[in-house]
Amino acid sequence: MGYEAPVILDWRKKLPRGSQPVVYRAPGEIAYIGVHYDGAPPRPAPGYNILARQIDEANYHIHKNWNTNPKGSPIYGSGLMYHYIIGGDGTIAQTRDESEILWHICNGNRVCLAVKVDCGQGQEPTAEQLSSLNKMLTWLCYHRPDIPADRAHTYGHGECGGQYGGGPRWGNATDCPGRLLPYVRRWRAGSW
Ligand SMILES: [Zn+2]
Repeated sequence: MGYEAPVILDWRKKLPRGSQPVVYRAPGEIAYIGVHYDGAPPRPAPGYNILARQIDEANYHIHKNWNTNPKGSPIYGSGLMYHYIIGGDGTIAQTRDESEILWHICNGNRVCLAVKVDCGQGQEPTAEQLSSLNKMLTWLCYHRPDIPADRAHTYGHGECGGQYGGGPRWGNATDCPGRLLPYVRRWRAGSW
């Protein structure tokens, strides 16, 4: 089977943005890929509006106080905190510039690109989502010479806290990416 590049929609200008200034990085700094599920309620139902869901989540990230210090002044988000999203029907969209450092994986934010799959907690990813995720990871790891991240540096969000034994210790403790995790691990092992 030949290489099939992913079809990626550009939703960067369709999503709301906050006033929080963004810190940028060079493509060469992207050493890792982080895979996320979609823990936001309600869980994605068949036929849901994929763009509307991203707009809702962007608004949530914009109005959420990200400051972990309860006594500190509020810190609000700059927009949706994922670079790419994969909808339930396999739709792939870019939602932020890759150069933007987003808040998705604690101490790994600077070096990690965020791919979010609309797969809720406890939900199995759809066949279309898995196909699109595989295409995205193949593209990012093997067809983007400007990005150093490779297969061996692709992790599920919750693996990046040390609690699974391996993975970077970035302080993450979460069930994310849920049922996607076995696929991420197989990808890293070279068997998916
Ligand atoms: Zn996550």
